[in-house]
Amino acid sequence: MRVIDHVIAGAGSGTAATRHGEVFDPNSGQVQARVPLGTAADLDRAVAAALAAQPGWAATNPQRRARVMFRFKELVEREMEALAHLLSAEHGKVIADSKGDIQRGLEVIEFACGIPHVLKGEYTQGAGPGIDVYSMRQPLGIGAGITPFNFPGMIPMWMFGVAIACGNAFILKPSERDPSVPVRLAELMLEAGAPEGILQVVHGDKEMVDAILDHPAISAVSFVGSSDIAHYVYRRGVEAGKRVQAMGGAKNHGIVMPDADLDQVVADLAGAAFGSAGERCMALPVVVPVGERTADALREKLIPAIGALRVGVSMDADAHYGPVVNAAHKARVEGWIAKGVEEGAELVVDGRGFSLQGHEQGFFIGPSLFDHVTPAMDSYREEIFGPVLQIVRAPDFETALRLPSEHQYGNGVAIFTRNGHAAREFAARVNVGMVGINVPIPVPVAYHSFGGWKRSAFGDVNQHGMEGVRFWTKVKTVTQRWPDGSALSTGSEDGGSSRVQDAFVIPTMG
Ligand code: NAD
Repeated sequence: MRVIDHVIAGAGSGTAATRHGEVFDPNSGQVQARVPLGTAADLDRAVAAALAAQPGWAATNPQRRARVMFRFKELVEREMEALAHLLSAEHGKVIADSKGDIQRGLEVIEFACGIPHVLKGEYTQGAGPGIDVYSMRQPLGIGAGITPFNFPGMIPMWMFGVAIACGNAFILKPSERDPSVPVRLAELMLEAGAPEGILQVVHGDKEMVDAILDHPAISAVSFVGSSDIAHYVYRRGVEAGKRVQAMGGAKNHGIVMPDADLDQVVADLAGAAFGSAGERCMALPVVVPVGERTADALREKLIPAIGALRVGVSMDADAHYGPVVNAAHKARVEGWIAKGVEEGAELVVDGRGFSLQGHEQGFFIGPSLFDHVTPAMDSYREEIFGPVLQIVRAPDFETALRLPSEHQYGNGVAIFTRNGHAAREFAARVNVGMVGINVPIPVPVAYHSFGGWKRSAFGDVNQHGMEGVRFWTKVKTVTQRWPDGSALSTGSEDGGSSRVQDAFVIPTMG
């Protein structure tokens, strides 16, 4: 059986781990590889290599660091096809979607290629008499990233692209469910010219995460995953004195106003609710039609659109989506569908019991549609993270606005309307971090920043863009003056004593 090794101080490092995780092929349901569940001793080796490499990397001028990013981008583009296949084979998303996963990460690498420009500091000449003030952004040292299974290409690149370009060493602990793409990315960074120890991969589960959170040499931790674990990582990391950003789960709503173009909405919803089998933190699993007429018309159009979805293996170029990641997750999603029925929602389309001929052991789930879901239901309050769309009917705009605003999660939200005023009001007032206006999955571009609100994110700095640069650097501010020595030597006795008195007063710039 293939073993997916750590990448510590270069590739192929071996491990002291005695525990292993199983990596499935979700299309067949079979175990295809094993991954070591690393220990604090594995982490210590990675930290030692990072400590050895980071000062030299930080002292490398930003243009040279950017050139490594340029080469890395070229290598990933060269390997796009192979990386996408590797990603689909472990995650289960279709190949085109895997390419999108990698591409959205590469866009952050493109941002990182511009790091010399964004790292320029601030300067004030003449802040006081003969005094200048300047500030610079310096790397933190060693940063770590802990990433979820659902974007094994994009999310590691969100983090390490910016962290490394800023001059840090980075230790990545990817999801143990699909760790091969992160390993390959680290190998490509080595090939691109990053020194050994600058990007390393340690595999593992809670034991490794705790070792990262407790390690005194790691200055900052970026986490993306489910909310309870995000909150735990945030608390424990901050307690250890680290800088932490921890993105959590989501339950994104799509508000459909009566004037919306329903055909467009249905096309957008099909992709946003069911694409990647709903395993996206920016999926749109809740649709809120405003008014009964809108709700009935939307439901009527959604049913055939859902019926036309093709569920297939990841390599099927005609499939809209593939299997979910593993058997436990399939059981969890089906459990939520049962819970919705028990709570009294109307199950209009039931995706349970779906079987793909020739792939009966694969982790496939058909698409499901619920109507008459209410805010009191647990199946509404919690994240399902599967191919399940819930209709929550709202009588008016204000009710529709309150639903995502009062939900425990606040990652993304969308409004579909032709009314600019309604859209503007909605964007200004909704209590959610990322808003789409006639855009179902409003994932910001790489040079803006990604981050939700409420239980979708702990900490206050977003991912990538300038927020990422702020997260992965600390600001040093220098106040300088260069007194003229001759002027000092000609000072009178009185003048001298007034200077002594000045020294005991909090300095102002007068
Ligand atoms: P997860 O929380 O199970 O795992 C995330 C990471 O935490 C993994 O690396 C895992 O090994 C580690 N981990 C798991 N259990 C742990 C524990 N008990 N203690 C410490 N670490 C632990 O998440 P997942 O299932 O891999 O990913 C799906 C979740 O991620 C969903 O909730 C989704 O909404 C969320 N997500 C959020 C964003 C965002 O930006 N807000 C993006 C993608 C995914």
